[in-house]
Amino acid sequence: MNLVLMGLPGAGKGTQAEKIVEKYGIPHISTGDMFRAAIKEGTALGLEAKSYMDRGDLVPDEVTIGIVRERLSKDDCQKGFLLDGFPRTVTQAEALENILAELNRSIDYVINIDVDKDILMERLTGRRICKNCGATYHLVFNPSAQPGVCDKCGGELYQRADDNEETVANRLEVNLKQAKPLLDFYQEKGYLRNINGQQEIDKVFEDISELLGGLQ
Ligand SMILES: [Zn+2]
Repeated sequence: MNLVLMGLPGAGKGTQAEKIVEKYGIPHISTGDMFRAAIKEGTALGLEAKSYMDRGDLVPDEVTIGIVRERLSKDDCQKGFLLDGFPRTVTQAEALENILAELNRSIDYVINIDVDKDILMERLTGRRICKNCGATYHLVFNPSAQPGVCDKCGGELYQRADDNEETVANRLEVNLKQAKPLLDFYQEKGYLRNINGQQEIDKVFEDISELLGGLQ
């Protein structure tokens, strides 16, 4: 079960990733975790990645790809894996094809959790936080009883600067632009499966399970 998980911010990728690895017993391989593990183990590539990160630079593709190769060669990936946050570019996706070919494997599915941009906007801009106790609410999904007032302590609710419309719209735009060529690449390869992410969390997972059921 060799999977790549894709989805824009707010699509519910993290939630579904958790459910997939729990049900199918495959490792969840996110770029951040992979870097942290390589650095902790002190591998040559890990240390190289660290030198870039310490300077605040982007880790170059060849280093990232090397770390992915090391990670996917480990025993716990025998049964499969769920890649999350990698690949980000077509160059990385091509490198992943090569790594998997070396390992005599191939991607089964690229699961894209598909949600309309306006719904993502609603999800991402609706968060409100209590100034006093830090409790979090959502205007639509988890509203406070009285608008603008914390249920727990009566404190004032505010919106983080990161959650404002302009910032969120920008973030989505950047992510969309980045994802488009990758989705096209995987569509052409025949790996891409779009899952409707505009349903209840459990229904989204049901659709994913139905897809993955065919692999077992
Ligand atoms: Zn509060």
